[in-house]
Amino acid sequence: MSEKKTHFIQNIINEDLAAGKYPDGVHTRFPPEPNGYLHIGHAKSICLNFGLAIENDGKCNLRYDDTNPTKEDTEYVDSIEEDIKWLGFSWDDRKFYASDYFEKLYEYAVILIKKGLAYVDDLSAEEIRQYRGTLTEPGKESPYRNRSVEENLDLFSRMRAGEFKDGEKVLRAKIDMASPNIVMRDTVIYRIAHAHHHRTGDAWRIYPMYDFAHPLSDAIENITHSVCTLEFEEHRPFYDWLLDSLDFDANARPKQIEFARLNLTNTVTSKRKLRQLVEENYVAGWDDPRMPTLSGLRRRGYTPAAIRNFCDEIGVAKSNSVVNIAMLEHFLRDDLNERADRIMAVLKPLKVTLTNYPEDKTEYLPADNHPTRGGKRYLPFSREIYIERDDFMEDAPKKFFRLKPGGEVRLKHAYIIRCDEVVKDENGNITELKCSVDMESKSGCPNANRKIKGTIHWVEKNSAIPSEVRLYDYLLTTDENGNISGDFIASLNKNSLETVNALIEPSVKYTAPGTHYQFLRMGYFVVDKDSTPQKLIFNRSVGLKDSWAKVKDK
Ligand code: ATP
Ligand code: MG
Repeated sequence: MSEKKTHFIQNIINEDLAAGKYPDGVHTRFPPEPNGYLHIGHAKSICLNFGLAIENDGKCNLRYDDTNPTKEDTEYVDSIEEDIKWLGFSWDDRKFYASDYFEKLYEYAVILIKKGLAYVDDLSAEEIRQYRGTLTEPGKESPYRNRSVEENLDLFSRMRAGEFKDGEKVLRAKIDMASPNIVMRDTVIYRIAHAHHHRTGDAWRIYPMYDFAHPLSDAIENITHSVCTLEFEEHRPFYDWLLDSLDFDANARPKQIEFARLNLTNTVTSKRKLRQLVEENYVAGWDDPRMPTLSGLRRRGYTPAAIRNFCDEIGVAKSNSVVNIAMLEHFLRDDLNERADRIMAVLKPLKVTLTNYPEDKTEYLPADNHPTRGGKRYLPFSREIYIERDDFMEDAPKKFFRLKPGGEVRLKHAYIIRCDEVVKDENGNITELKCSVDMESKSGCPNANRKIKGTIHWVEKNSAIPSEVRLYDYLLTTDENGNISGDFIASLNKNSLETVNALIEPSVKYTAPGTHYQFLRMGYFVVDKDSTPQKLIFNRSVGLKDSWAKVKDK
């Protein structure tokens, strides 16, 4: 992280620092609302905010934006912290909650009222909407807009005391109902909600709105650069108006900077939609390996480095776009290539009997664990083995270089075999192959280097471990441009999970959850969190074929 990245936010920071602003250094924050699990889009924001702090020798706070009592929960708080730490970032001792500022925020609201810059409005939500006007028509002033400061102070304190019902009154900023920016048309800053809050309990009957709480939380924490996503661009004038109105020094107070949200093909990055998938049981939970949540990606076998590298590579944009999920997969493959030991697993087994191999013999053949890191293990080999069903074809085309009747193939780390006979059941299904072994073809023997076009993987029958392997595919199907047609539920990929009973070489017997492997020729897999030595479970993280390289070079 030595070289400073150049993107427009870093440029703004460079200018600010060069101008002598912010003598205490760069201070950012990551502000999740604890109403769901973090997803890959949040990872982008985390990498950006914590990354800016690291690159500029500054600080980044974790701040829960918990102003919406009815949707929030401590379950989410815990998962958010686990995910940020897992990604490799630290907020040190700077964990804050907007709800910690409720008293201060209330005082700021009182100051606004005293300055004649806020008023209590009795209009209903529906009426407020009608009065607001449209993009082409100015709004209309509320009949309650010109209440006296005293009346406003009295009503606001009674709102706090719980004298009114939900929706009966709100506190609004008094700005300009004719502003071309609708956010500036007397934005609502407090609402009544007789609701229990996950931290403040029943202490409050009024809650600040995001537009009010967020800039002030930033200012209270001495944030310098408040980075958020593009949908808040129209809210920036209010952000500035509020801090100006409350006399925060224009040279020292935080500034809001917007960047484009990360969207990915073949999935959704909206907490609302992700919650729907969980609540309506389309997936097995927030950490289902098909989910783009950080806990789902982790269970799928994603590594923090893969996600960080991906976020770095996509950069910081000013206009929204959809990133091809193949690019995320590319970075996973890149990282797992280094990290994962190579082993052999047969996902859809076909039995092979080696007719000329001695019946009572088992030998142990050396096999490299990793092409560059080295390490060895010994694979049992005997008369009965399994190969991948797809690696045999009865009526094979000319270019099929795996096993076919009369044809030869090399068994990885072992011998060359030839298929002599195909055994079928009464329905014509292939149940077994009878093959003969070239006993002189293993490593160190005269035929070790005999040229054979195809090499396939295998496992030995007696030692292979029956395991559950979950083959995941994309959550959503999209058209060739990555677009989802209509309702996303209708686009759910019906084949996003296929579970197979695989046979895996015995070296994995005591493997621990979270261990990464490359199953030779089959892809990268990770040991699931529910896996035990009694019942091994593997999740496919990603296949071996890098379709991103292809897309990129187009
Ligand atoms: P959602 O729309 O999924 O509910 P949100 O914006 O409401 O997301 P927050 O918990 O408020 O979720 O988000 C915390 C921070 O993460 C915010 O600063 C938000 O801008 C940022 N963020 C959320 N989604 C994305 C995304 N897809 N790309 C980049 N940043 C994001
Ligand atoms: Mg939000």
